[in-house]
Amino acid sequence: MEVPTMDEPAHFALFGNPVSQSLSPAMHTAAFARMGISADYTACQVKDAAEVVRRIRKGGIRGASVTIPFKETLLPLLDEWDPAAAAIGAVNTIVNRDGRLAGHNTDGPGLIRDLLEWITIKGTTFVVLGAGGAARAAVYSLREAGGIPIVVNRTAERARAFAESFDCRWEPAAELGRLRADCLINTTPVGMFPEVERTPVAERFLTQFPRVMDMIYNPMKTRLLREAESAGCAVRSGVGMFVHQGAEQIRLWTGEEPPREEMRRVVLERLGNHD
Ligand code: NAP
Repeated sequence: MEVPTMDEPAHFALFGNPVSQSLSPAMHTAAFARMGISADYTACQVKDAAEVVRRIRKGGIRGASVTIPFKETLLPLLDEWDPAAAAIGAVNTIVNRDGRLAGHNTDGPGLIRDLLEWITIKGTTFVVLGAGGAARAAVYSLREAGGIPIVVNRTAERARAFAESFDCRWEPAAELGRLRADCLINTTPVGMFPEVERTPVAERFLTQFPRVMDMIYNPMKTRLLREAESAGCAVRSGVGMFVHQGAEQIRLWTGEEPPREEMRRVVLERLGNHD
């Protein structure tokens, strides 16, 4: 894609419902400014996936982020999508290439880039809690990177179907107490603001996992991570993944390397104001 210049402002947007609490507008706006790209990035609350497509075309939007609840329903409405998005069954990024809308999923690459700053993935075992869109992105990408995921989900039938489509191991939630893995990744929203006193894993099980990551980034230190730390586990919040998935979006839209540290700084600043 042609990189927008200072003379030619470009429009970017976030589509979801709700979007008012999103940190993406602050993060992306700061990134574009630091890159010297004249662009606006607007959060748009929409009713359905078809409205996303209409608004991108009508508004001449060059690129968009997509969030809950449209990541899955939007995919079949696009003109094309990359193999990872097709395998995951969800898009979080749209690139408007002269009217052709291409779907991508940067959640997986964002997770992998963040994890690699922390651990080795190849040959590492992961318990992935949850079987929704974020879990699909995680399991697909972990496997691509040589990791060994085990899916554990509240609704066993969903975990079973999920594991079948990704050809990986699954266990019902009741079995968590007898599982061991190098790393546990929470992909459920349990513990997210405002329900910060909830946790998806009983404290007594945490010693089974030397490392615990929570995809949640608000709050940065969830109850799961607090209890994991007390149990002696190394912990990681969802902030790094969030920054990297956003940075990968900018790379797809502009072809340029985004200022990841500036993006992280803005996100941390905003989260500091939230807590
Ligand atoms: P989703 O598609 O709605 O999936 C939610 C999953 O969580 C389902 O498997 C569901 O289990 C499980 N779950 C929900 N409530 C539960 C509860 N009370 N107890 C046990 N399990 C429960 O959501 P998603 O799109 O995958 O997103 C999940 C989380 O990941 C959100 O918090 C989101 O913010 C986060 N996320 C973070 C990043 C990042 O960059 N850091 C990126 C993407 C997503 P059932 O199947 O039993 O219903």
